[in-house]
Amino acid sequence: MIAASLGANIELDTAIADSRQRFTAANPASLARHQAAKQSLPGGNTRAVLYYEPFPLAMTGGEGNRLTDLDGHTYVDFVSEYTAGLYGHRNSLIADAIRKVADSGWVLGAPNPYEARLGEAIVARFPAIERVRFCNSGTEANLMALSTARAVTGRPGILAFEGGYHGGILTFAHGGSPLNAPYPFVLGHYNDVAGTVALIRQHARELAAVILEPMMGGGGCIPARPEFLAMLREETAKAGILLILDEVMTSRLSYRGYHGKVGLKPDLVSLGKYIGGGCSFGAFGGRADILDRFDPSSPNAFGHGGTFNNNIFSMAAGFTGFTQVLTESALTQMNELGDQLRGTMNDLLRQRGVAGTVTGVGSLMNLHFIDGEVSSPHDVDAADPRYLHLWQMEMLLRGQYVTPRGMMALSLPFTRGDIDRFTGIFDDFLAEHRTILPIRR
Ligand code: PMP
Repeated sequence: MIAASLGANIELDTAIADSRQRFTAANPASLARHQAAKQSLPGGNTRAVLYYEPFPLAMTGGEGNRLTDLDGHTYVDFVSEYTAGLYGHRNSLIADAIRKVADSGWVLGAPNPYEARLGEAIVARFPAIERVRFCNSGTEANLMALSTARAVTGRPGILAFEGGYHGGILTFAHGGSPLNAPYPFVLGHYNDVAGTVALIRQHARELAAVILEPMMGGGGCIPARPEFLAMLREETAKAGILLILDEVMTSRLSYRGYHGKVGLKPDLVSLGKYIGGGCSFGAFGGRADILDRFDPSSPNAFGHGGTFNNNIFSMAAGFTGFTQVLTESALTQMNELGDQLRGTMNDLLRQRGVAGTVTGVGSLMNLHFIDGEVSSPHDVDAADPRYLHLWQMEMLLRGQYVTPRGMMALSLPFTRGDIDRFTGIFDDFLAEHRTILPIRR
């Protein structure tokens, strides 16, 4: 933890108390909703990531990259539904696709005209995905990929990385959650090449799969070093272990997915978030020889049920978004805007002498109030969480919707003007709070 002097500590706590007070005064309807929600939902919450102190803002709607809250304020949406909101709000083509489904009927209990077309588009775009199956969430996609790896290899174990997040019951921050799915996990250190080689070799005979994100998203937008990815591909292939790349978040970082961008060929890939066009979605795909085990017409096929695997809203909205809205140039432009935003924020932190860094790739980034490089979740743990809390409160009070953990995600409607306005506000924040933010050494 970055040590602050006693005076600065008191000032920091005072600044936080002051920002919370202004936040509470400005948002009576969100507060009332939160209090009422506690009657039925534990702590008023049904999705852990959406909780923050003193209470979360409730949103009523959105347009483009703008959101409106229950008290009538509008925000520029830098949360982008934790990356699932890639298309922004109310994209007209996707809205038409959803409307068409609403007009013609859903819960049809049969294959629909969209699922294979979406599958075809995914297979055509992502090089490592030769076949794909749909499910309902990124969590489910990863559970299916892990279970498939265990069934195919006949081995039980899974190597994951500390600080990794692969779903509500596949979370590895601070040693893992007591709710995690009961696979025998071995945990490695992200970006630690030598340590991970040793771990793989030590456990080679009991490992079915290694699972990771090519850039840790929830873990703090920490990209994998190229030599780390290359080592994993080589070592897993040698030991007959499947390499599962979780691209639930990162597939948006390049038109052909992160694996396409860096030329990596994992055995299995999981997808989710934006690919359902904003409706619930998950998918796992990869090598045809593995996925074809799910062909129900073949003997001893793996069964994979799921009432909503092909739900027509997700399939239609997903197909339209993926093939008509998400052009290569639109995606590239959005990721370039993200690079500019991250670059400017890092320049401002340096110029103001604040110990902070913005990590990430393209349209995904995370602010950390940390001096020096952030290359593992362990580095992130060194930060005093009060700084990000103050930052979040102050950004919300200035109409910039950001996450409590400092993660920011752009969406397609973002413009250069939105970025310039945000960086101006960010610079004001740094200037105003310079004396209580950590000092760069
Ligand atoms: N993997 C990654 C990398 C994620 O970021 C998430 C969601 N934050 C998931 C899996 C789980 O996806 P879902 O929330 O759709 O279950």
